[in-house]
Amino acid sequence: MRIDETHDPALTSWVESANGHADFPIQNLPLCIFASEGKERRAGIAIGDFLLDLAAITDALGDAWTEELASPVLNGFLALGSGPRVALRQRLSELLSNEAHRDGVEGALIGQSEATMHLPTLIGDYTDFYVGIHHATNVGRQFRPDNPLLPNYKYVPIGYHGRASSVRVSGEPVIRPSGQRKPPEAEVPVFGPSRRLDYELELGVWIGCGNALGQPIPIDEAEDAVAGFCLLNDWSARDLQAWEYQPLGPFLAKNFLTSVSPFVVTPEALAPFMTEAFVRPDGDPAPLPYLDGGSERPGLGLIVEACLSTRAMREAGMPPHRLSRGRAADAMYWTVEQIIAHHSCNGCNLQPGDLIGTGTLSTASADGLGSLLEISQGGKAPLTLPSGEQRSFLEDGDELILTARAEADGHVSIGLGECRGMVVG
Ligand code: MN
Repeated sequence: MRIDETHDPALTSWVESANGHADFPIQNLPLCIFASEGKERRAGIAIGDFLLDLAAITDALGDAWTEELASPVLNGFLALGSGPRVALRQRLSELLSNEAHRDGVEGALIGQSEATMHLPTLIGDYTDFYVGIHHATNVGRQFRPDNPLLPNYKYVPIGYHGRASSVRVSGEPVIRPSGQRKPPEAEVPVFGPSRRLDYELELGVWIGCGNALGQPIPIDEAEDAVAGFCLLNDWSARDLQAWEYQPLGPFLAKNFLTSVSPFVVTPEALAPFMTEAFVRPDGDPAPLPYLDGGSERPGLGLIVEACLSTRAMREAGMPPHRLSRGRAADAMYWTVEQIIAHHSCNGCNLQPGDLIGTGTLSTASADGLGSLLEISQGGKAPLTLPSGEQRSFLEDGDELILTARAEADGHVSIGLGECRGMVVG
């Protein structure tokens, strides 16, 4: 991934709200799918407070990728791989920075407040990993104080197959799930609404070209399979999870909803912010050869953040309270490239538009814990909010807001947008 003129920190746009925009300056240009009054779903990019309707500027795009960009999902465009993605980025950067193009393009801008965001792809498959080593350790310690990490963790990027049908874009209400739970003191389980509803702060990876069945993606080519990134909230019912998860792993505790931010932030946009991978402590095993390699800077330099707003806080006019903040690269024992190489190493085919979650991104620090399960130590240490309310897990009316920012010296910082969800009873 190279730095080119589209990353120039001096570059500005004639879309004035883009200049200095926290998430969407001209150096970002994330893809999305949106609808607006009288118009069906179609492809766009975010620029400042606006979306640019890509299907409406086919002339200015030189009649390239016309069919893919007029589609109600981005699968077709993402499947084209990095060449067309880079070419589109370079063309849009020119169109939105050079005043000479303003007349031909400005009419295709739609205010974000007037648009309805949709999932960027038709998600064939969704997989969630567990590469946050501090999260895995913190959760493991609650069950096995002396042996928190299972012996496979440092050899295998652990994951499970999630449910694609219940992935929704930011803003979808979180309907409190019912299910079986068995309190420790009870002899038999009961059925009812979850009492330990939680969030998980994760990043999502959108797959571009993918691989054919039976053809693994080598670690040195894994970078090319990634089309972009988003925020992902893996809503989790901890009481359902504790009772159901053995021996086959998460099921109904997780598949009632997964929320993602609507923008596909490309590897090109993130190029200046990539960093070194997690440094394995002395004594840890080296990755097996099929997981050893990849690009020089595979670590995600994104600062991820989770905030909580309760009904009482909103009624009192209080801002959301930050629950955690930390750098993704400091949380991820395995890189995205290792995740992809591992997922496909047996020949399993990843397809354009597939979604992969990293796993909960907790750092080693107490202010970087990516779930309430960790923050409240399984409910033993409830969190006190600025409103005076206490939380061990989520209550009805609570809203979770995930954000992520990328910053680096000499570059204009960018963001991933927001991933919101409010719990309803
Ligand atoms: Mn998860």
